[in-house]
Amino acid sequence: MQQSPRVIIVGAGVVGLCVAWYLARAGAAVTVLDRTGPGEGTSSGNAGAISAGSVAPLAMPGVLKQVPGMLLDPKGGLYIPTGYWPAALPWLWRFVLSARPDRVQAIAQAMASLLHGAEDRHREILRAEGAEDLIRDDGQLYLYRDADHLKKDDAAWALRRAHGLEMQVLDRAGIMALEPMVDAAYTVGVFLPRQGHCVNPLRHARTLARGIERMGGTIRRATVEALVTDGPRVVGVRADGETLQADQVVLAAGAWSAWLLAPLGIRVPLESQRGYHVMLPDPGVMPTRPLVPADRKAFITPMEEGLRIAGTVEFGGTEAPPNAARAALLLDDLRKVLPQANTADAKPFWMGHRPCLPDSLPVMGPVRAHPGLWCAFGHGHLGLTASAPSGALIAAAMLGPVPNTDLTPFAAERFA
Ligand SMILES: Cc1cc2nc3c(=O)[nH]c(=O)nc-3n(C[C@H](O)[C@H](O)[C@H](O)COP(=O)(O)OP(=O)(O)OC[C@H]3O[C@@H](n4cnc5c(N)ncnc54)[C@H](O)[C@@H]3O)c2cc1C
Repeated sequence: MQQSPRVIIVGAGVVGLCVAWYLARAGAAVTVLDRTGPGEGTSSGNAGAISAGSVAPLAMPGVLKQVPGMLLDPKGGLYIPTGYWPAALPWLWRFVLSARPDRVQAIAQAMASLLHGAEDRHREILRAEGAEDLIRDDGQLYLYRDADHLKKDDAAWALRRAHGLEMQVLDRAGIMALEPMVDAAYTVGVFLPRQGHCVNPLRHARTLARGIERMGGTIRRATVEALVTDGPRVVGVRADGETLQADQVVLAAGAWSAWLLAPLGIRVPLESQRGYHVMLPDPGVMPTRPLVPADRKAFITPMEEGLRIAGTVEFGGTEAPPNAARAALLLDDLRKVLPQANTADAKPFWMGHRPCLPDSLPVMGPVRAHPGLWCAFGHGHLGLTASAPSGALIAAAMLGPVPNTDLTPFAAERFA
């Protein structure tokens, strides 16, 4: 009888956990290694939006025009500390290059192929784990001050619509019908009836971890120091000083993945886009669905432990301490949308690292020069959404049946 393949997954964020879940279901003997508990990194603190229609890359020509203004505004949604500019510039240059119209079309096509059916994949997992209540299907509501404001995002909405996103443009009465507490300054809405949200990303990650263990997998706390090779083949990892052998290794260490690849000579321009959230356990007002004030690029999400306001993009790497001033801006964002919200009992803020590539595509699939090594990282602003379909895709590519989705656009080698 053939033995189950032994697979080590580095990283128990939502992406690594989904990869492990699908591999375990397909019969692999999986071990997930993380220096913290499942989902306790970036994956615990996201805004919970499951946005399968978000196929437009961040680098849209329209966005580029907005960037200088955002950078000059000290309260803007994007912040690069002066000292970090030299490190950020090469990444930003690639970001600008990926906003060429032909690249934007190709990126959207690749994202659409990855995100197609994302919510069904999430539901497939949660149904098996008896936790379908983690996801709600009440849609998402983007908020604009007026029609001119909406116009700035026209290109991105058109691209999403071209890939099948269902959307309804609402006037003030339409907004009021859905969310009567939204401030009168927002007169135009875009309602996405088919996009959902997760009400507790940490419980979600822990549910995945329990499922992996139920199927015979192991989740272990350990810091991975290096990938172990035998010639070009990756044969395991060194973790906490110990060598662990595997038939295959999946690198799913989020924003920390690039430095484990670098010793193999593989350079990927992975940058942390640091984001923050604030939780209000007793906000006094609770929308039914995530609200997204488009001028602030924040998400205001109803969750089972309160109202979460998440957002802002800050460069600065994975080691710099969090910046309380950035988190405080989120409460201002909230007050603009829901002025009656009670912010008095806000919990201490949280910060996490979105693992971002300049072309907004993750790095996924086999590393050609190193048999035995697979990548699953760099899902940026969409890691929760893309985690389940990424897991299904990687597991199928590793163990079969061969998936229809072409992994070429996601290859690590695309940056060579
Ligand atoms: C403010 C904010 C809001 C967001 N909102 C949304 C949203 O609404 N919808 C959405 O789809 N996405 C959202 N995201 C993005 C999403 O949260 C991330 O893309 C996703 O969590 C990344 O998951 P991951 O598993 O790749 O990384 P992580 O969750 O960061 O997991 C990586 C894991 O690897 C471990 N690790 C790293 N190095 C090592 C090592 N050497 N040894 C052992 N372990 C290691 C870490 O401890 C960590 O647990 C948001 C992100 C932020 C910050």
